[in-house]
Amino acid sequence: MQTIKAAVCRAFGDPLVIEDIQIAPPQTGEVEVTLDAVAICHSDISYASGAWGGFLPAVYGHEAAGVITAVGPAVGGFAIGDPVVVTLIRACGSCPSCAGGNPTICETPYDTVKGPLRTADGGPLEQAMACGAFAEKVVVSHRQIVKIPSDMPKDVASLLSCGVITGVGAAVNAAGLRPGQDVVVIGAGGVGLNAIQGARIAGARRIVAVDMTEDKLDIAAEFGATHGVLATSKSPWKDAYKALGGRGADAVLITVGAIPAYDQAPRYLGPGGKAVMIGMPHSGDQSSYEPVILAALGQGLIGSKMGDVVIQRDIPWMIDLYEQGRLKLDELISGRWSLSQINEAIADTKTGSAKRNVIMFDKA
Ligand SMILES: [Zn+2]
Ligand SMILES: [Zn+2]
Repeated sequence: MQTIKAAVCRAFGDPLVIEDIQIAPPQTGEVEVTLDAVAICHSDISYASGAWGGFLPAVYGHEAAGVITAVGPAVGGFAIGDPVVVTLIRACGSCPSCAGGNPTICETPYDTVKGPLRTADGGPLEQAMACGAFAEKVVVSHRQIVKIPSDMPKDVASLLSCGVITGVGAAVNAAGLRPGQDVVVIGAGGVGLNAIQGARIAGARRIVAVDMTEDKLDIAAEFGATHGVLATSKSPWKDAYKALGGRGADAVLITVGAIPAYDQAPRYLGPGGKAVMIGMPHSGDQSSYEPVILAALGQGLIGSKMGDVVIQRDIPWMIDLYEQGRLKLDELISGRWSLSQINEAIADTKTGSAKRNVIMFDKA
């Protein structure tokens, strides 16, 4: 066991505590990655607030990039010194979902409490989301990592681990957008802006962003939204129809956790349209809709986890798009912080104005 520094959640709703923890060496199929950067995602905040329950104490954090510093047995294709992004998608590779090309919904359970992390005194410590990246190092499956170019900045690369693949993947993989289709994206936050970029990359004709403030709609326009609609309007779907020339959308991508957005989403759809649920409401939250309308208009409701990505296929593609200037990543970062400032960075993310705040491990 090695001793490293981590931000630990000891009680839901309390600030994270910077403490020494222990991490085991990589086991069969695993690698150790020493982190340079980890971005803060709203999922980390939901977990830390207790919205989804879970074991405590726990280490959250799951949008990371760093360099491989140890390789366990039976790991092919990776070596010490490789720069990588680390994702939370711990896919077994052989269950029906993995074998069917859907590793984000892998069916093989992984016990995050029996994982590589222990408290300083040897007690149990959850490696939340199979990652535990609010820490100087992670030990993860080699199936969770993807090599990146050595000159790619790690703060930028870390964004590819969750928000970017979820948003772009939802547009390209889950909604299966074709050139010329019309899209509505509800929410212009970390995932929503990437859904907008994904729709643009897929060749969407018109992309309508829906959010609560003009500021958010302005940012959405920078990422490719052709129209903006205020969610505070009386019937925002009517404003969207107007932007779409009187017809509903071919797809509506719901990137927020607020239930009214789910209740309203089918109203934005045209005949044959699909509502793609990407955001993560709190456990127990319920939504309702009118089945007869969906049946009569041949519409669909689908869920998408992590953009239905296959990281080994999609992350190298997205890195090329970034290098070609077709995928914005630098513009998604709103601040850089040290590990000791993590509670301030989380508070800043909670204000909703921030895009992504990134913890840099070389910052004092
Ligand atoms: Zn995330
Ligand atoms: Zn699997």
